[in-house]
Amino acid sequence: MSTPLLQVNDLKKHFPVRDGLFKRKPSWVYAVDGVSFEVARGETLSLVGESGCGKSTVGRAILRLFDITAGQVVLDGKRIDRLSPAGLRSMRRRVQVVFQDPYSSLNPRMRVRDILAEPIRNFGLARSPAELEAKLAALIDTVRLPHDALNRRPHEFSGGQRQRIGIARALAAEPELIVCDEAVSALDVSVKAQIVNLLQELQEEFGLALLFISHDLAIVEHMTHRVAVMYLGKIVELAPKRQIFTAPKHPYTKALLSAVPVPDPGAARNPMILKGDVPSPINPPRGCRFHTRCPFAFDRCRSEEPELRSTGADQWVACHLEALPDTAR
Ligand code: SF4
Repeated sequence: MSTPLLQVNDLKKHFPVRDGLFKRKPSWVYAVDGVSFEVARGETLSLVGESGCGKSTVGRAILRLFDITAGQVVLDGKRIDRLSPAGLRSMRRRVQVVFQDPYSSLNPRMRVRDILAEPIRNFGLARSPAELEAKLAALIDTVRLPHDALNRRPHEFSGGQRQRIGIARALAAEPELIVCDEAVSALDVSVKAQIVNLLQELQEEFGLALLFISHDLAIVEHMTHRVAVMYLGKIVELAPKRQIFTAPKHPYTKALLSAVPVPDPGAARNPMILKGDVPSPINPPRGCRFHTRCPFAFDRCRSEEPELRSTGADQWVACHLEALPDTAR
């Protein structure tokens, strides 16, 4: 079996918070608290969950936007969580990002040509001005924008067009993995579909791996290969798309899916309304973190944390119910 492009092993990221002027000892936000997964070359893995579940923190940890608290992030067999500045530079070329907000992620003072030329120059990917020009023309073609777009500035484009520029900027570095952090969430429905289709086409064309971070399960269903469902800093279910959308096992996954609108009302899933809000990641509940909202919680759930275990067929679930015989569920 070939080495996965990305391996994340028991990743933790805890942020200190100090409230009050004189409070010396910080509290901790357990934003990501022991997350493991792999992404193969050319694969899309989606990280899904409600706002605040830690999915964007995982993406930022992989991009090395901050140091992690514990665990390992391994790219192509090499640990990137403890790279030297020189090693980081090469990693940054291989792992790129498309952010949510196409309005604030592009420098309004720069022309598109300069935005796209920056990574090409920084990573030494063009040997001459002519090669740079050819790469800029190819990039703008790849994201289906007209050539005169190169001489315009971001404010002259619509949201969807700006996101195409953001994608072209990521592609300019010739990456192997793109972290798409809520990359289509700010767009209108029809534009969303166009950008998702474009990402899929580019994935095929360039063999890219995508880590697609999203709270929008309808979009995820359209484009992913596998799904990791996060709740309060942990992965609670990880499985191929078909299993997640047709036979979810974790109660939280079932609740998320029951809220996704379906085009055919006859095929609507049984609604599963969750009580209360997501607890604070500063003081997560003991035992199963989902027990305060889970309609199936029993005594063991309040004291013992369930491990993420294989249930066969490439599906992993963190729920004590999975350890019970079918008759007891
Ligand atoms: Fe619900 Fe218990 Fe399973 Fe957690 S372990 S999801 S509380 S049944």
